[in-house]
Amino acid sequence: MQIAFIGLGNMGAPMASNLVKAGHDVTVFDLVESAMQALEGEGARRADSAEAAAKGAEVVISMLPAGVHVKGLYLGRDGAPGLLDTLEAHASNTRPLIIDASTISPEDVRTVAAAAKERGFTWLDAPVSGGVGGAKAGTLTFIVGGEAAGFEQAKPVLEAMGKNIFHAGDSGSGQVAKICNNMLLGILMSGTAEALALGVKNGMDPAVLSEIMKQSSGGNWALNVYNPWPGVMEGSAAGRDYQGGFLTDLMAKDLGLAWELALDSKATVPMGSQARNLFALHSSQGNGQLDFSSIQKLYRAGE
Ligand code: NAD
Repeated sequence: MQIAFIGLGNMGAPMASNLVKAGHDVTVFDLVESAMQALEGEGARRADSAEAAAKGAEVVISMLPAGVHVKGLYLGRDGAPGLLDTLEAHASNTRPLIIDASTISPEDVRTVAAAAKERGFTWLDAPVSGGVGGAKAGTLTFIVGGEAAGFEQAKPVLEAMGKNIFHAGDSGSGQVAKICNNMLLGILMSGTAEALALGVKNGMDPAVLSEIMKQSSGGNWALNVYNPWPGVMEGSAAGRDYQGGFLTDLMAKDLGLAWELALDSKATVPMGSQARNLFALHSSQGNGQLDFSSIQKLYRAGE
């Protein structure tokens, strides 16, 4: 298929790469030149703008940091037209299917999806879980919101990048499920870091403590596959000074989305609020561009 891929960051680059490997004809665009060059080296075409990448595509996929970027891309910014308008002007009978895999608010999804529907496009929210490792291995979980017919059309494309493809419900419900998941992840990562720091302060070896908790009732994804203590787990972000991975700023953003969702629905999220404050504080101390497991450093201050 002819696929346009917009946003080649930590996640988007390996996802686009897997589409190329699956035999799709992929045209990429990112604001960062070097990101496009890397994909070109893997067999993708590069375009000079999102509009140029999307022209003639059967499927458009975007993987951008936050709602402001997604709205800017599709609806336009600073008086410039958005992708929906330029695509509508170019499209003849067939409209490309649009899949946004970024994590953004359900409200932003509904705004963009409604504007897309008015112009005859199907626009799906398809946030992912599985991290950079899952993006590289092609084993991501996609949590899709939008019409069932669009989901069925998207599924074979998503299967080139992921292993579990869920239809969560209507537009925005992919994001609701993703936000709930990441709120829990933020709580689990900070709880894991807290427990490890307590054990080490009391003379435990972090690797021994981790192994004990993994085999006990404290075992959880953050501890089992993403250990935040440096040197405990081979290949973890902690072992490379927390470079790359899922940035602290993105986790703080997702916990902010959970907080907004709770306000809108009058839900109480005391643990999620605590986690949001911890990650926001950690970010304010200059750690926003480190992997989110670096929250461990917050518990090691003064060592
Ligand atoms: P990133 O910051 O590494 O990459 C974002 C990319 O988008 C950058 O290369 C940037 O240059 C590009 N970009 C921004 N605005 C653009 C525009 N208008 N046109 C073209 N390119 C543009 O972020 P990431 O880690 O790849 O995450 C992307 C999304 O996926 C976020 O919403 C994040 O919350 C979510 N997510 C990330 C992870 C993870 O482990 N990193 C896991 C699951 C979900």
